[in-house]
Amino acid sequence: MHYYDAHIHADNRSFEELQTMALFGTERAVTCAVGTGYTSIPALRDHLRHLARREPARAARASLPLKAALGLHPIGAGQLDLAAFLGMLREAFAQEENAVALGEVGLERNTPLEHELLLSQLKLAQELRLPAIIHCPEANKLPVTQEVVRLVKESGLPPDLALIDHVNGETLELVRAFGAWAGLTVHPRSLTPAGAAALLAQFGGQRAILSSDVGSDPADLWALPKTALEARRLGVKEADLEAACYGNALAFFRQ
Ligand SMILES: [Zn+2]
Repeated sequence: MHYYDAHIHADNRSFEELQTMALFGTERAVTCAVGTGYTSIPALRDHLRHLARREPARAARASLPLKAALGLHPIGAGQLDLAAFLGMLREAFAQEENAVALGEVGLERNTPLEHELLLSQLKLAQELRLPAIIHCPEANKLPVTQEVVRLVKESGLPPDLALIDHVNGETLELVRAFGAWAGLTVHPRSLTPAGAAALLAQFGGQRAILSSDVGSDPADLWALPKTALEARRLGVKEADLEAACYGNALAFFRQ
């Protein structure tokens, strides 16, 4: 099996870890910005430049083809002047050829400030026709995911350009029925490999995209191959597995 890990944070991981991902068959990955903790626009711009230039170059030396998603995570809401931030982000997408998506953006505490930050970034993605990687929190999963769907609709971004991450058994069908991609984020905080495999067995691979979200917190570098192993044990069809492990992410990011 080969893998396309649609959501990692490469800047928090070692060269050897990126190499390990390549060794077990990760053929492509996307590193997502978080972008929190920056107190000025130029400092955040430098950080995004690092993600879009240095990280893909470092990953390439580890034989891991890597692209970048740029944006501001909901926990950074209110951190910087919004209009100035959006101007800088627009410029970054024009300048960084490895920037293939907006992300990761989303909702965490579901506050008005987070709504404003998410909506404005989604509108930019709509304008630039960029795919968007959207985070949903563990708390109040269903209502906050519904809120994310509402904001994607309001932004005008085609659902086909939205990857709504951290889905569970409660939200997967909602996301797919909307026409977005359902992110099965296999991470100790949200979904185990066995849990993701069970979702694939129940719902099939249509519109499902696996990712590991490996970053600064404890996570599982082997999330995707472990999920594939469990999925085969449960009798998930190879075509469904191939779609969730690779093909769907390829379609999503190539648009
Ligand atoms: Zn993440």
